[in-house]
Parts: sequence; structure tokens; C-alpha cells
Amino acid sequence: MFDIIIIGAGPAGLTSALYALRANKKILILEAKAYGGQIINANKIENYPGIQEISGFDFATNLYNQVKKLGGEIRYEPVIKIEQDKTVITNKNKYHTKAIIIATGVENRKLNISNEQKYIGKGISYCATCDGNFYKDKIVAVYGGGNTALEDAIYLSDIAKTVYLLHRRDQFRGENKYIEELKQKNNVKFILNSTIIAINGNLTIDSITIKNDFEEKNIPIDGLFIAIGQMPNNRIFTNVVDLDEFGYIKTTNDVYTKTKGIYAVGDTRVKILRQLTTAVSDGSLAASVAIKELENN
Ligand code: NAP
Repeated sequence: MFDIIIIGAGPAGLTSALYALRANKKILILEAKAYGGQIINANKIENYPGIQEISGFDFATNLYNQVKKLGGEIRYEPVIKIEQDKTVITNKNKYHTKAIIIATGVENRKLNISNEQKYIGKGISYCATCDGNFYKDKIVAVYGGGNTALEDAIYLSDIAKTVYLLHRRDQFRGENKYIEELKQKNNVKFILNSTIIAINGNLTIDSITIKNDFEEKNIPIDGLFIAIGQMPNNRIFTNVVDLDEFGYIKTTNDVYTKTKGIYAVGDTRVKILRQLTTAVSDGSLAASVAIKELENN
């Protein structure tokens, strides 16, 4: 029997683990893919208090090592279900625990147009820092108007010959300082008020078709980086938590869900700011609340 099972090894989950381990709790971290969550792909983090600049990979790896040094165990098993009695079922095992912290984050939103699936890894990527180097001196497009798209375009502009930054509106959601930086780059071309309506190619992508109020046209490209935000994937937890209309887990300010002993933290819960700072804040809070409840019972 574990004291706390933490589902997800991103910054929120690993911070919960850190706090629980420091309180001598018996914990297990279950992760479906790899440690680090979304932040591991961030080129640069510049808004974490006390650290002027660090790569997402270094931040995530430091946190992971901190947890491992305290004896934290991570098993790479996707969770399939949580039972009411707090049994956690993975694709391999059943685990019994007194408390559960759900820290499953979000996944990249898909365009949901034909050929998107077909060209993933063959011209389509959702991670510029992971795949950017495949496009040295090539032509790429970044789709989206948030900070991720802007940062991706900056990153790719140092690698690719041409970067098209495509956005469906004429205003970006991301920060002005990134937009100004992009405007200074000769190889970045802004295409606004346009949507991608087709992805074309044979074995790999060779062009996209875009549409605006006046025309449809083909743009030859070698790679398409889709950065249109994220969405949660919480359907498997609906027997123990309530979701909002977008699929995020409803919690109290103290990260309690509707089921006693089950907490939700980080990007996967309803909140107004999804950042590294708020993820680690949630993670520490959930572990502290869970520890207190365990000690009271
Ligand atoms: P985001 O801020 O939600 O932006 C998503 C963008 O994709 C929006 O511009 C949106 O367009 C567009 N979009 C959404 N669905 C679309 C669709 N179906 N077709 C075409 N375009 C679509 O997502 P994000 O950029 O991944 O950022 C997520 C969070 O992480 C944000 O809070 C962001 O500030 C934060 N972040 C911070 C940093 C940093 O601080 N350095 C870096 C990266 C991310 P509309 O604008 O028209 O809605």
C-alpha cells in the first residue's frame, strides 16, 4: 500500500513527489511517456523566479534528479482507471494507495484535418526544439498565435532558410517582445488571417494549402510545426472527478477534487494561469494537503 500515488511526472507531479518524499511518505509516480511534461521542450525559461535563464530540459532533469536522489520511483505505465477505493489501474498493474495526485498535464491540440496523422514525423511536428534540426536550411511553417508558436518561430529562424509564421487572426495572443524579435528577422514571413485547409505531399509534406478572405493558395514547405495550444485528456478519471466544459478537472483552491483523497494539480485542472510557477505551486500544495490528511486519519 502506498501513501500517495502521483500520476504524471511533469513539474507539478515531480514537485508533489519532492514534498511527499521529504515528509518520508511512501510514494509511486506513474508516467505514461517520459519525465518532464511539456516544459522539457521549452527552449528557454526566463520567467521562473530566482533563475534568470534555464532550458526546459535542464529544469526538468534537475527536478527529476532531485526526486530520484530522495528515492522517488517512477514507473512508466499509462494509467487506465482510478477506482473509487483509490486502486490505480495501469496497463500492467493494480496499485493500492491512500491518496492520489493527478498531474497529467495537457497534450498538444491537433488541427484535425486530413493528412495530419499521416505526416506526423514526416513533416509535421508539435515540438520545434525536438525536431527543428531536421530542417536545416529548409522551408518551414509554424502555425499558431500564442507564445509557443512565437518561440518556435524564433528558434527555427536560426536553423531553417525560411520560416512562415501563420496565424488565423491579425492579432497574436503571445507576448509583444517575441513579436518584435521576429519582425527583426529577415527569414521570418508573417501570414495572418489565414487558416490551413490542406496538407499535401507524397511520402513527406511538400506544401500546405491556406485560405484567407480573398483566396486559397499553396505554399511549398518541408516542415509544419503545429503550435495551436493544448488540451487535457481526463476522460478516464470522470468516475472520480468532475470536469469543466473544456475537460479540465474541477478543484477547490486547495486542489481537492470531489473525491476525498484525490487531488488534481498543474495544467490539467481548471485555473486561470497555466505556467511552470503555478504547476510547482499546485504540486507542493497537493502534497502538503495530502500529507496532512494522511496524518489526521
Ligand atoms: P495558447 O496561448 O493557447 O495559443 C494557442 C494559439 O493557437 C492561439 O493563438 C489560437 O488562436 C491558436 N489556435 C487554437 N486552436 C486553433 C485551431 N484549431 N486552428 C488554428 N489556430 C488555433 O497556446 P500556447 O502558445 O501553447 O501557450 C500555452 C500557455 O503556455 C500560455 O499560457 C502561454 O503563455 C504559455 N507559454 C509561455 C511561454 C513563456 O512564458 N515563455 C512559452 C510558451 C507557452 P487564437 O489566438 O485566435 O485563439
